[in-house]
Amino acid sequence: MKTWKFAVNSAYFGKKRDRFTEYQPDHTLEEKFQMVESIPGISGIELKYPFDLRDVPLAKRLLEESGLECPAVNVDIKDATHFRHGALSARTPEARRRAVSMLTEGMDIAAELGAGIVTTCPLADGYDYPFQIDYTTAWGNFIESLRMAASHRSDIRLAVESQPHEPHARILLANVGMVLFACAEAGVPNLGANLDIGHSFAAGESPAESASLLAAKNRLFYIHVNDNTGDGGDWDMISGSVHFWSWLELLYTLDKIGYSGWLGGDVAPKHIGPEAGYVINTRMVQRMRLLLERMGTEKIAALVRQEGVIDQTFEYLSSCLIPDPVEPVYRRKEKS
Ligand SMILES: [Zn+2]
Repeated sequence: MKTWKFAVNSAYFGKKRDRFTEYQPDHTLEEKFQMVESIPGISGIELKYPFDLRDVPLAKRLLEESGLECPAVNVDIKDATHFRHGALSARTPEARRRAVSMLTEGMDIAAELGAGIVTTCPLADGYDYPFQIDYTTAWGNFIESLRMAASHRSDIRLAVESQPHEPHARILLANVGMVLFACAEAGVPNLGANLDIGHSFAAGESPAESASLLAAKNRLFYIHVNDNTGDGGDWDMISGSVHFWSWLELLYTLDKIGYSGWLGGDVAPKHIGPEAGYVINTRMVQRMRLLLERMGTEKIAALVRQEGVIDQTFEYLSSCLIPDPVEPVYRRKEKS
């Protein structure tokens, strides 16, 4: 089976607060690197633009000194100061221009840092109410902005992240279908997806299916690994902690489709702190991968090829977890 390199999302090593409380203080970039360096299994750090990259030479030096790679620069285009009424899809050309130039600046910095990818989750582009936006105009603006940003340079790939809700009731780029639509409409080969597994569950998807569809169109550029309750909320939980079987299926599928990109951890470790959170997130994925290796991907593929054998499939898969014989099923006594 394939192995993948793991990165962390630097955003979770700085100040963390929600609308109720603050979980974690802010840290300097040097402190973030020190924390990430100590995490076993992590070889990359996805850096946020603009917050982490106000001093690009410093980031470059820290990458060199730590031996960490920067697989992607994560561009934040959702702050309410500039993008309260949308960013890439906004009515005002100033907001759209600003969002596009932030992406192109992020692409230039990515090139400087040796990162081949810019990721962005366009959460300012959404709506709450009926009659709030004109969908044709908003989607037209959205796709044109993405096309302009991606066309800035062909050596950096722009990976957009879908998410169904938050901070708006509805986000334009809500699911994998919307991502594929945007890519097809924009018509530029370096526009693709950062598939966030938790967002995929929140959108009611099977992430293995989403990954397969994206890969079929050469649009699977990056992956954010996490989990959530699957009821629409975005909890950035430990990978495989909720959707264990779907997570196994995802890793089996990533191996099958030959995904060779990074697995970028994207968990919110509010209870245990970022170091412990990213240790267990990485171990969970590594152990699920090892479990699949033990189960045998060829054996699983042979079962999946057959029709009407899902009982045999789960008999086999579960027997790999607990090989002991199962106790006989209790039967009610026959009525006399
Ligand atoms: Zn994400």
